[in-house]
Amino acid sequence: MAEGGGAMGLANGGAGSPSDTVKETSWPEDDEVFVTERLSPTAMATFRPGNVEELYELLEKLGSGHFGVVKRCRKRSSGTFYAAKFVKMRKCKGSRLGLDREQVEREVSILQQLEHPNILRLHDLFASKAEMVLILELICGGELFDFIAEKETLTEAEAIEFLQQILQGVAYMHGRHVAHFDLKPENIMLLEKDVPNPKIKIIDFGLAQKLEDGVTFKSLCGTPQYIAPEVINYEPLSSATDMWSIGVITYILLSGMSPFQGETDAETLSNIVAGNYEFEEKFFSETTDMAKDFIRQLLVKEPGSRMSAAESLVHPWIKPLSRKQATNRSRSSINMKNFRKFNARRKWKLSYNMVSACNRLCRLKLLCGQRTEDETLRGCESDQEDEATHPVTLLRRRRSSCS
Ligand code: AMP
Repeated sequence: MAEGGGAMGLANGGAGSPSDTVKETSWPEDDEVFVTERLSPTAMATFRPGNVEELYELLEKLGSGHFGVVKRCRKRSSGTFYAAKFVKMRKCKGSRLGLDREQVEREVSILQQLEHPNILRLHDLFASKAEMVLILELICGGELFDFIAEKETLTEAEAIEFLQQILQGVAYMHGRHVAHFDLKPENIMLLEKDVPNPKIKIIDFGLAQKLEDGVTFKSLCGTPQYIAPEVINYEPLSSATDMWSIGVITYILLSGMSPFQGETDAETLSNIVAGNYEFEEKFFSETTDMAKDFIRQLLVKEPGSRMSAAESLVHPWIKPLSRKQATNRSRSSINMKNFRKFNARRKWKLSYNMVSACNRLCRLKLLCGQRTEDETLRGCESDQEDEATHPVTLLRRRRSSCS
């Protein structure tokens, strides 16, 4: 077996472009698997051959997506529990089954560069030609929004404790020139929930990018409610793009309303581009002026004028300058009644989209069974492409069918 060559590009972290490295190497056969240990972000990866089940006992299924399944697992040597994410590789270009190797490699490479208490950790990585297995930190506390929706009341000060952790994680990644580009409630989880101070974990780096000086990055990805105007306008993206999403998340958290939500996705996008939002008194009657100022400094159309993550952390709403400011935050509460309604609608939409995605996958699989593989995958693609040409669908990311 070659010296784990195929997987070298994956684990090199920031050193060079993973896809370049992979191009020079050949991948092991399906039944040959390599593993890399979690390394310090700057270290070069070392590989040793191994099979995931030799090192980890696979347990129950935790979830699934069109990439494959996620299972709880236990490391045999230490007894520690993790989540094993099995990601199927796309068999041919253009297929909708599985993910692009390059895309997963980019996600892995980014995760390997990040080591922060509020960011999901990648512990181990196994890779073969057909599949990658990411051994991830096990997240047991569910989504932050679900946790909050179960509460009777929540003061702004309590909401800020969560927001501060999100900002710390985001400031850290931006400091390392990484932008997430898909910040939304589904990607903000709690490590555990039945503990005094639940810890935030930012997950899903599937759209994340390493930002390089002098390199312009543009993309039409994201989830309509949370994307910044520069995404819709196909203008250069930056870490400021994440800060817009944090502005939207904060607005929702305080009021249970989504600032740009229209009747349709197209209307939502047009509201975003126009910068059409307001603090309606009936939803924001309990909100402090400081909180509104915080949001206003994030929902700024011009990315260069938006507050950065580091600046947000010292905004007086997050870090009060006086006792009076601190007291105001503890007296103001978030609009729980409306927030619960928002969250229920959000969950309903997620389930609906999940069922639709499953139906589409079943149709694909049924069709695929009737033809040769190549023909089938192409055939199925054109079926999907009809949907994909819809302008709004273009803006949805691979998992947005579930988002
Ligand atoms: P994903 O598409 O990565 O969000 O994974 C699909 C589902 O698997 C999630 O909705 C979770 O239920 C579960 N899952 C993924 N990663 C983890 C993790 N690190 N810990 C616990 N459950 C996870």
